[in-house]
Amino acid sequence: MSQYTTRVIEEMMERNPNQPEFHQAIKEVVESLEPVFEKNPEYKEAGILERIVEPERQIMFRVPWVDDEGNVQVNRGFRVQYNSALGPYKGGLRFHPSVNVGIIKFLGFEQIFKNALTGRPIGGGKGGSDFDPKGKSDGEIMRFCQSFMTELYRHIGPDLDVPAGDIGVGGREIGYLFGQYKRIVNAYEAGVLTGKGLNWGGSLARTEATGYGLVYLVEEMLKEQGDSIADKEVVISGSGNVAIYATEKVQELGGKVVALSDSGGYVYDPEGIKLDTVKEIKEVRRGRIKEYVEEHPSAEFTADSSAIWQIDCDIALPCATQNELNEESAQALVDNDVILVGEGANMPSTPKAIEVFKENSILFAPAKAANAGGVATSAIEMTQNSMRESWTFERVEGTLKGIMINIHKISSQTAKEYGMEGDLAAGANIAGFLKVADAMVEQGVI
Ligand code: GLU
Repeated sequence: MSQYTTRVIEEMMERNPNQPEFHQAIKEVVESLEPVFEKNPEYKEAGILERIVEPERQIMFRVPWVDDEGNVQVNRGFRVQYNSALGPYKGGLRFHPSVNVGIIKFLGFEQIFKNALTGRPIGGGKGGSDFDPKGKSDGEIMRFCQSFMTELYRHIGPDLDVPAGDIGVGGREIGYLFGQYKRIVNAYEAGVLTGKGLNWGGSLARTEATGYGLVYLVEEMLKEQGDSIADKEVVISGSGNVAIYATEKVQELGGKVVALSDSGGYVYDPEGIKLDTVKEIKEVRRGRIKEYVEEHPSAEFTADSSAIWQIDCDIALPCATQNELNEESAQALVDNDVILVGEGANMPSTPKAIEVFKENSILFAPAKAANAGGVATSAIEMTQNSMRESWTFERVEGTLKGIMINIHKISSQTAKEYGMEGDLAAGANIAGFLKVADAMVEQGVI
């Protein structure tokens, strides 16, 4: 590491103490940018790195609400508007008890580069709350969302900041959030949120987009090796939106998904996961993955979600949450001859796990490239909202596929150009950074 990048990282860590995920996300990107600063001194002169690590604006607010027993509850809400060089801030909202400002900042920082890679005009942002939706009634979820939006509305807008879903925020929550926004601003601004319902401004294929996009990118990487997903055994962690639709696409392409998980553990079904059952459990009942074995005796449940990586497989797709795949899990995958690891979640592999994959020449699809399909399709939803149109499923899916193929192409070309052929993580970071950095140079010191 050069003196310059070391200094920027040290200052960032000093200024943001006790935010390990945020530090991790910044270090991972900055380390891969070293050759960029050597080749393009103008970025250093314009202070791009110093500016890009600092969010443009951070909002933190109280979210009071009343639970079903009549007790007053207080949660904390966040929105980090990280970078608007390429377009309005764009990124999801996460409702999970682990949420704090460091988590939102790491996610917002990642979002800047991911969004840039999509080629769509969207900046980077992220938000959420430490609210735990688990076990809450519909009424409680609605009252929480309304209270959250009662503060958030003044900070967002279709040309300013466009939130969407993430962990704990799906179609139901986006509905309640949109209803409250519309009521307060007294206008139907469809483009203020994405992931909306299909008959009120949402886009077909948005629900499927992150999982489908991940598998398109994986398929592109395999194609380069003269291989494909057909007949591959695949382990996917998580069982939310990303994992479910990654499973669907893998199965469509002839692969076999043998395991899925949630925070309570994983199910292993050697005959292949029956997705209808999972959809019924997770999307309809809002239940737990262990309920799967009640309907499929061929499957077994293990109450340890991180042990999912011990399963023998060809392809591993971590689609649950940050740092879910550590060094030991990475080694277990390598020992079982895994060919490819594709990140559906945001930053699911620890830095040590990534090192293990690198040392063993495992094909690695980094999150910023691999899970960009969700936000790319959000941008397509914004396009439809601006046009007051609804595109067909085929049109949206075709556009998404084109974007994923392009992300693979620019990431691998950029890696090659900077002397790191085959390193998609470095290629994606550099390609995303260059777009944002050029825009920041052209827009002056702001
Ligand atoms: N939460 C998703 C992500 O991590 C989607 C964000 C969006 O659609 O704005 O990229």
